[in-house]
Amino acid sequence: MTISVIVPCYNEEESIPIFYEAMEKMNHQLREDLEYIFINDGSKDRTLAVLRQLSKQDRKVHYLSFSRNFGKEAALYAGLQHAAGDFVTVMDVDLQDPPELLAEMKAMLDMNPELDCVGTRRTTREGEPPIRSFFANLFYKLINKISQVEMVDGARDFRLMRRPMVDAILEVSEYNRFSKGIFAWVGFKTEYLEYKNVERVAGETSWNFWQLFNYSLEGIINFSDAPLNIAFLGGILSWILAFILMMVIIVRTLVFGDPTSGWPSLMTVILFIGGFQLLTIGILGKYIGKIFMETKHRPVYVIKEKSKSST
Ligand code: UDP
Ligand code: MG
Repeated sequence: MTISVIVPCYNEEESIPIFYEAMEKMNHQLREDLEYIFINDGSKDRTLAVLRQLSKQDRKVHYLSFSRNFGKEAALYAGLQHAAGDFVTVMDVDLQDPPELLAEMKAMLDMNPELDCVGTRRTTREGEPPIRSFFANLFYKLINKISQVEMVDGARDFRLMRRPMVDAILEVSEYNRFSKGIFAWVGFKTEYLEYKNVERVAGETSWNFWQLFNYSLEGIINFSDAPLNIAFLGGILSWILAFILMMVIIVRTLVFGDPTSGWPSLMTVILFIGGFQLLTIGILGKYIGKIFMETKHRPVYVIKEKSKSST
């Protein structure tokens, strides 16, 4: 029974050796048959050199190296496609996903054959800017309201899955990949381990606020068509409003004559409707953009180099 450990790396030359040490130390007790699949996601530092060296030292270490930065989602997908294990886990290299939890996750799966996946959930967001936590909470509230799939607040990508679930995830071959949603979408019985937030061991996060904002938009657009309803509902609402106003104006003119006035109110209405139309066209555009990328059928990633041992 092999466990494949998938590790996306972007500019992580410092973290990789620390991660590897920690994993090996942990596995000293766990004594599982591990294989590592590191994905170099177009790093600009010495990540690839570190990986080459590591895979020379240890036959269990495989690596894939992308031709440029394709993003963590692409790296995860590549890792899942190349994993051969009966169990597969996905981990960040910065030790924000504590290796000690792996033993507990494996034990839970061994104890309960009904269970397909053990995920992890951060109960605190210590060390994170408050504004980031605020928007994260907002995102989970919103997405769970407007989407069919249920995404657990604070759930990380760090999880241990059985093979059937991995195969199901690989079946979802869409170009616009939002893994948190895909993990939830495929279903399967998942339980969550809770732990306190851990800070990065080395290097720094590659996400800024706008990237996270866009990432959450991805999630909403990929897993819900509720925003499209905004146009529809807004349209109906303003139509009803316009009808009532028209009646009021007709009656007023018949009864009181027609004093010419109301330029400011006219401008407000024009601006309101104009803005609303742009908004809805924008929403439509977002979905069309997704369709456009999807219909090109481009590969999710391009591999430039891989370790000899990897399949
Ligand atoms: N990562 C990646 N490609 C990217 C950005 C990040 O493979 O374009 C990897 C990164 O090396 C790390 C994991 O994804 O192993 C999580 O990234 P990070 O720690 O920067 O995110 P955070 O934990 O702050 O959400
Ligand atoms: Mg991190």
